Amino acid sequence: MEHEVSAMRISIFRGTRAGDEKVKIGILAVQGDFEAHAAILHQLGVDTVEVRTPAGLEGCNGLILPGGESTTQLQFLQEEGLAEKIQQFARRGGAIFGTCAGAILLANEVRNPKQDSLKLLDMTVLRNGYGRQVASDVVSGPSKLKKEPLEMVFIRGPIIEHAGPDVEVLAEYGGKPALVQHGHIMAATFHPELTDDTTVHQHFLSLAANGTSPATGSAKSK
Ligand code: GLN
Repeated sequence: MEHEVSAMRISIFRGTRAGDEKVKIGILAVQGDFEAHAAILHQLGVDTVEVRTPAGLEGCNGLILPGGESTTQLQFLQEEGLAEKIQQFARRGGAIFGTCAGAILLANEVRNPKQDSLKLLDMTVLRNGYGRQVASDVVSGPSKLKKEPLEMVFIRGPIIEHAGPDVEVLAEYGGKPALVQHGHIMAATFHPELTDDTTVHQHFLSLAANGTSPATGSAKSK
């Protein structure tokens, strides 16, 4: 068991799935800070691809929905047929991580104002819930991912007002969930890609490496 766990850690570090299949992470590259996510994943030795079309998702084990403006991103996803494709990707076991605007896209319900979404995570978010400040708020707080405090950069982020009973809260800010996970879907109201700490991305990579293979849709035997 020990051995298996450390083998998994090593393979995640090398950006590979068990069996040495390389993990590939798609990053929605319509608008926003997609390049910062790519940089952090490259630092971890992981292959990334910029996703702008439904075909761009082929062969990806995981998808990152970056920060930016959720209204603009949502419109693009709906116009290009990507919204439906991303929902299928999630149903087939592809891991998804939404940060800030990306978290808004994933939420079951969006308020302030009300907005449509992909409805892949059982939570209600309030857009610009921490105020419309341009300057970022950098805080450190406890998380379930490591012993040391986690640095969290907030930029006009949403507040997660409510998270469903099956949604695990991995970190909080101001008494509200800031990093949440349900199965292979994860969302942060802050920007882990804007710090030097790779903890959150490594956690996401472990979900992508353990998930079902989106290429075949077949569940990996455990
Ligand atoms: N305020 C933006 C929105 O509502 C999100 C901000 C961000 O992603 N940094 O879409």
